[in-house]
Amino acid sequence: MSVHFEKIAILGIGLIGSSICLGVKAQNLAGKIVGHAKSIGTRNTALELGLVSEVFENPADAVKDADLVILCTPIGVYKVLAEAIGPHLKAGSILTDVGSVKGTVVRDCAPFVPAGVHFIPGHPIAGTEQSGPRAGFASLFHDRWCILTPLPGVNAAAVEQLTRFWQDLGSQVDVMTPDHHDLVLAITSHLPHLIAYNTVATAADLETVTNSEVIKYSASGFRDFTRIAASDPTMWRDVFLNNKDAVLEMLGRFTEELAVLQRAVRWGDGETLFNLFTRAREVRRSIIAAGQDTAAPDFGRSKT
Ligand code: NAP
Repeated sequence: MSVHFEKIAILGIGLIGSSICLGVKAQNLAGKIVGHAKSIGTRNTALELGLVSEVFENPADAVKDADLVILCTPIGVYKVLAEAIGPHLKAGSILTDVGSVKGTVVRDCAPFVPAGVHFIPGHPIAGTEQSGPRAGFASLFHDRWCILTPLPGVNAAAVEQLTRFWQDLGSQVDVMTPDHHDLVLAITSHLPHLIAYNTVATAADLETVTNSEVIKYSASGFRDFTRIAASDPTMWRDVFLNNKDAVLEMLGRFTEELAVLQRAVRWGDGETLFNLFTRAREVRRSIIAAGQDTAAPDFGRSKT
């Protein structure tokens, strides 16, 4: 692969930021990567792991002369970061992000982006429940989608350059509006996380089933909810604070469907249950066919 950018600045060096650093290095996509993170511990770890060649306590210092700046912190931090770096962004550079919500990112960042800087919000649909600079790996974005949500009138060549960047990190790229992104992700990601958090919380609150029983018999479905519910609390708090309308819309639909299931269980309506489960199974098969998950039994987990 060829170098796309002379200098890339990564603001926030956690799972996603460190994975970008590793992917960029593996594919030789940048002359230099520099970083910024909140804590001295993360900044030192980023240097120690060789994720970046320099780290800065002040985000404005990190973005100086950078051709590509990527916001990789929790979304709740974006506004303060954008305000701090705005005046220091290089003319002609690209400012993007990886946040799981896009509408509020545009609202929070766009006012601070100077004319001549290409602001192209993005979201790699890739992740794990791990966090921090040691959690990253170069192949995180392989065979995943990355959604870009450029605003009307943005420079087409810059969108093309960012598209090629994500493709070289291993992703396929799709373009859509921020609002559409937020609606799609509300059902595919945000609602499932809310349900997982609630399921685990419900089990934890049960008084008639002991905690040790919940853990001992967790192989039957509950375990998969606990994996999702182990995701970073700060990141997910910010997702729900920032995608309120779309999540409430999907939660309303979900509640209606749940009432149908509740009624079917109560009245012993096997046909309704069977039909709904059959439809759900087809969705799972489509995801496997699209290469977005493994068909291996038990999600390919080791039996040892
Ligand atoms: P993470 O592992 O928790 O890392 C967050 C990073 O942001 C850390 O380096 C942290 O620094 C830094 N940070 C936090 N507050 C900051 C502040 N006030 N100023 C400067 N830096 C700050 O998080 P992540 O999973 O990489 O997620 C980062 C972003 O990616 C989020 O916006 C999320 O929506 C998006 N995303 C996540 C996933 C996923 O599955 N995790 C998938 C797609 C997109 P310290 O370590 O010093 O606190």
